[in-house]
Amino acid sequence: MEARELVIVGGGPAGLTAGLYAARARLDAVLIERLSPGGQMLTTDMVENWPGDLEAVSGFDLSDRMRKHAQHFGLEIVNNEVSAIAIDGEHKIINTPKGDIRCKALILCPGASPRKLGVPGEAELTGKGVSYCGTCDGPFYREQEVACVGGGDTAAEEALFLTKFAKKVFLIHRRDQLRATGILAERVMQNDKIEVLWSQAPLAFQGEKGVESVRIRRLKDNSEYDLAVQGAFVFVGTVPNTQFLDGLVEMDGQGFIITDKKQETSLPGVFAAGDCCAKILRQIVTAAGDGATAAFAAQRYLEE
Ligand SMILES: Cc1cc2nc3c(=O)[nH]c(=O)nc-3n(C[C@H](O)[C@H](O)[C@H](O)COP(=O)(O)OP(=O)(O)OC[C@H]3O[C@@H](n4cnc5c(N)ncnc54)[C@H](O)[C@@H]3O)c2cc1C
Repeated sequence: MEARELVIVGGGPAGLTAGLYAARARLDAVLIERLSPGGQMLTTDMVENWPGDLEAVSGFDLSDRMRKHAQHFGLEIVNNEVSAIAIDGEHKIINTPKGDIRCKALILCPGASPRKLGVPGEAELTGKGVSYCGTCDGPFYREQEVACVGGGDTAAEEALFLTKFAKKVFLIHRRDQLRATGILAERVMQNDKIEVLWSQAPLAFQGEKGVESVRIRRLKDNSEYDLAVQGAFVFVGTVPNTQFLDGLVEMDGQGFIITDKKQETSLPGVFAAGDCCAKILRQIVTAAGDGATAAFAAQRYLEE
């Protein structure tokens, strides 16, 4: 069985930063990523809150730069998917379809995926008008009308991005005030192409071969109506990609991993970083910070 000092699961900003620090510490580390390195950054059009980059940087470029930076210092990145993890004394056994890897320290950075609304028509019309990624699917809606569901930073950013293509973006939000950061909320309110549908919630996505309308409830008086749109984008939070851990480490009620200030989980030598953790701010900069802390703490753990 392959043996390593450290295995890092996931190649988003948390994993790539952990990998950079581990490589510079000269640890025998490997990063396992099931897709392309970059994680959610790859589904982000422009990032304008990465410190030091005053000109907004594309999510694709930032991913590429982080990957190259870590590899420059010798990090090995492999394309594979971790299916399960077992504990054997102080060793951790990482199960993958390409074989098992034994390691002493482990950093979990599997990130998070978009939360589904769970309304009728959502599953059936996903990929046929229902989408969770404006960057990926926005260009399909040139001069069309689309709905965007949510009121946080991601919903605001994505609604603004969609105005590059769509002639009208309806932002459906269940409250009467956006939760998005001030500067994003201001831009939404100033954009003529965006109409916010306050205190309303989607009940169903409707259409035969593709989205034709969204059934909407006005929460103040419970009345309902159909909003005709050709596309519907859902941005209502994320769920952690922690199912494969099968309860290995302590998690909160939603499956986010609980860590201490060293990013260590309830299992000694198992650390977690980024969006998979229970925390209040899920961003690239906090994921990178968690990754650096986790790699530093893993190094200490290995030395002890
Ligand atoms: C549309 C959108 C726009 C955003 N805009 C911004 C922004 O402008 N600024 C900002 O700071 N943040 C933004 N964010 C949030 C930011 O992208 C995330 O907080 C950040 O990417 C989290 O990093 P992470 O490394 O924890 O996880 P992720 O980026 O989710 O990466 C996790 C990686 O782990 C891999 N993985 C998962 N499970 C396994 C497994 N079992 N085996 C192997 N690999 C696995 C995944 O394929 C993925 O590549 C945005 C997010 C979205 C969705």
